[in-house]
Amino acid sequence: MDQKQLEHFKELLLKEKQRIMKKLLKIKEVEEQIGNNWDEPKDLEDWADITLTEDVQAIIATRDASVLNEIDIALGKIEKGTYGICERCGKPIEPERLELIPWTKFCSKCAHEIEGGA
Ligand SMILES: [Zn+2]
Repeated sequence: MDQKQLEHFKELLLKEKQRIMKKLLKIKEVEEQIGNNWDEPKDLEDWADITLTEDVQAIIATRDASVLNEIDIALGKIEKGTYGICERCGKPIEPERLELIPWTKFCSKCAHEIEGGA
């Protein structure tokens, strides 16, 4: 994957993170936990540095919490240069799949097999 593609997926990941975080801040308990010292990042890049405390993770909906977690893992992989590689078979993940689920860990074949219980 070239630098241009990585930048593209990084932006997708950060936008999704931004979207989920903004949604979460509408939940009262989350706002109480992180709202007081919350400065909304001005640059998209700054969203990469935001991590949730365990307290906040416990409050928010499981699905959103796990997606945020996956997004952070994917951002870490972009930094390390391992982004877009299937964790199961080690082959590149299809760009079309990353376009839909930029935080996915598996290629479509492996994801299918995992979901199918294989
Ligand atoms: Zn795979």
